[in-house]
Amino acid sequence: MFENIQKKFSLAFKNLSGKGKISEKNIKDAVKEVKLSLLEADVNYKVVKNFIDSVKEKALGEKVLESLTPDQEFIRILKNELIELMGGKEPEKLVISRNPGYIMLVGLQGSGKTTSAAKLAKMYKEKGKKPLLVAADTYRPAAIDQLITLGTQIDVPVFSGDKVNARKIVKEAKNYAEKMLHDIVIIDTAGRLHIDDDMMKELEDIKNYIKPEEILMVVDSMMGQDAVRTAKDFNDRLELNGFIVTKLDGDSRGGVIISIRHVTGKPIKLAGTGEKIVALEPFYADRYAGRILG
Ligand code: GDP
Repeated sequence: MFENIQKKFSLAFKNLSGKGKISEKNIKDAVKEVKLSLLEADVNYKVVKNFIDSVKEKALGEKVLESLTPDQEFIRILKNELIELMGGKEPEKLVISRNPGYIMLVGLQGSGKTTSAAKLAKMYKEKGKKPLLVAADTYRPAAIDQLITLGTQIDVPVFSGDKVNARKIVKEAKNYAEKMLHDIVIIDTAGRLHIDDDMMKELEDIKNYIKPEEILMVVDSMMGQDAVRTAKDFNDRLELNGFIVTKLDGDSRGGVIISIRHVTGKPIKLAGTGEKIVALEPFYADRYAGRILG
């Protein structure tokens, strides 16, 4: 993961290490390397510009210029800025206070939505909750079967109603959840390969009906800037609460996790780190900043 960006960053640090006295030019060169590596990692251009301005300002301060280990000082600045950009040290929690509480997952097809729904259900089950999964992805019948299979694996019931009308499924699922005393309801909604208006209308309709406390978009970290643009569109239409970024175990370049918060103003709340049902964890920005820096 993040291999390219790590290699590039280490080049920038090398230029600063082992130098007796560091000059403004050395730092500016290092900042330039960092800028190129971010752009190559598919980080949004505006994000890169902001980030670089801020790093430059701090790195040209006395602390780095006077430091005996300018490379270390520079890395420290980069790490802090990255953490800040990705949302601060403490991961943002899901906030569920109603009973039952509703979590609605949205996102494009293939992003890992159905898998993440099951992962979330398992997470809550382990906390002693009584989750219900709702299969409202009527656009892709296989997704309903997939959720039912996953639900069986983790011993969480899956409500799939008539498997045709998403809004009706959600409405009936609400009654069912209340009757069966479920305290968390996780709704898997329809995704498409690209955003389309019918899908958005359906999602808005479900959102307005159920008023979920958490509406989370599932985003594939391997998709780069396309994913960030799509995230912005989803957020503009649905006012998300945050993101679940998946496939962080793969060889993603880093662009999504570095850009998405700045571009949308919404936090990454959870990270998907594998295909297994337990591979979901709070998003620790400092850990990822550490990994990006190698
Ligand atoms: P959906 O179309 O959005 O519902 O996506 P799925 O849940 O069906 O996931 C698509 C593929 O991504 C499946 O093969 C999943 O096993 C895989 N997947 C989902 N999350 C992760 C993850 O965090 N890491 C990895 N490596 N694969 C994942």
